[in-house]
Amino acid sequence: MNQNLRLGKIAGIPVGLNWSVLFVFVLFAWELAGLVLPQDQPGHPVALYWLAGSVTTVLLFASLLAHEAAHALVAKRHGIAVRSITLWLFGGVSELEGEALTPGVEFRVAIVGPLTSFAVALVAGSCALLLNDGSGTIQVVVASLGWLAWINVLLAGFNLVPAAPLDGGRILRAALWHRSGDRVGATTTASRCGEVFGYALVALGVLECLTVGLIGLWFVFLGWFLLSAARAEQTDVLLRSSLGDVQVHDLMTADPITFPATGTVAELVDQRLHHYHFGTYPLVDPDGRLVGVTTLGRIRRVPPEHRAMTRLVDTAVPLDHVPVAAPDEPVVGLLNRMQAAPDGRALVVDRTGRLVGIVSPSDVARFVQVATLGSQGRSATGH
Ligand SMILES: [Zn+2]
Repeated sequence: MNQNLRLGKIAGIPVGLNWSVLFVFVLFAWELAGLVLPQDQPGHPVALYWLAGSVTTVLLFASLLAHEAAHALVAKRHGIAVRSITLWLFGGVSELEGEALTPGVEFRVAIVGPLTSFAVALVAGSCALLLNDGSGTIQVVVASLGWLAWINVLLAGFNLVPAAPLDGGRILRAALWHRSGDRVGATTTASRCGEVFGYALVALGVLECLTVGLIGLWFVFLGWFLLSAARAEQTDVLLRSSLGDVQVHDLMTADPITFPATGTVAELVDQRLHHYHFGTYPLVDPDGRLVGVTTLGRIRRVPPEHRAMTRLVDTAVPLDHVPVAAPDEPVVGLLNRMQAAPDGRALVVDRTGRLVGIVSPSDVARFVQVATLGSQGRSATGH
């Protein structure tokens, strides 16, 4: 998830906003200031409704952040690195760099989010009760806090639906995994539930579009998002399970061809490219030191008339943005780093600092395809 605005850090984890959050901010502030507060507490100035509506929406985002920070902090305590926390169109998202190693950890990381939302609801609801004196401007504050408590209860409830990738789906997966010991099977079931729930939301959204109005579109998008996230999770777990303890040197493309960084795109295309069948080209300086990596995709983006003037280094991803792996490292650990990298490729460097290989997503896909064929063959002959 792209962070367009950095807010700061919580326990060393970068926290930020994606621009799409603005849309939800306006939607909620407008709902509060234009509908909820004037209906609940009529007779106050419009400016007061907007002030209360905006502050309450900021508090809503703060409570979403508390929900995500709770997931992130518990994950971190159990040794799972957290890349970032981002608020966006559908709430918050914590990007974890690894997987829970036991069902217990999976359960704790998942449950703490909804528990935090319930706690926020309890605090907001109690404040509303304490401040409630039956009349005056303070009643607008009471109504706002009441709304905040209610929306946090809804948030916790929605997240507890047992459908991956929602928290409830993770809890379901942890329970199935605990019972059967089969993590892949548990993920498959939780993701299937996620798909069904996604389809149900899309259907509900379409129905709402036809009867109530365009607000149903939001449910359609949310359903679609959950549907694709559930599918992606399913593919990811199958990938990881078939990679098992495969090491980087088992699937890397060995002895990659390097090019001078100061060479031009024209030189590469005209003189050398048709000799090689690689998609990734590491670039070196005159002393042979690596400076970056370019790819066929990046070269193709240079218009033919600019090829003679464009240096290869100008098309490259700089070295500090390319993941580097050791040949004897497990591939599963490298996958997360590759997924976060601009081109999804990694360089393999041995202990002496020499470049010995490249790992691209197609290397991984090819290896998995061959491994699956092999295991299908084995199970067929075993029966
Ligand atoms: Zn959550």
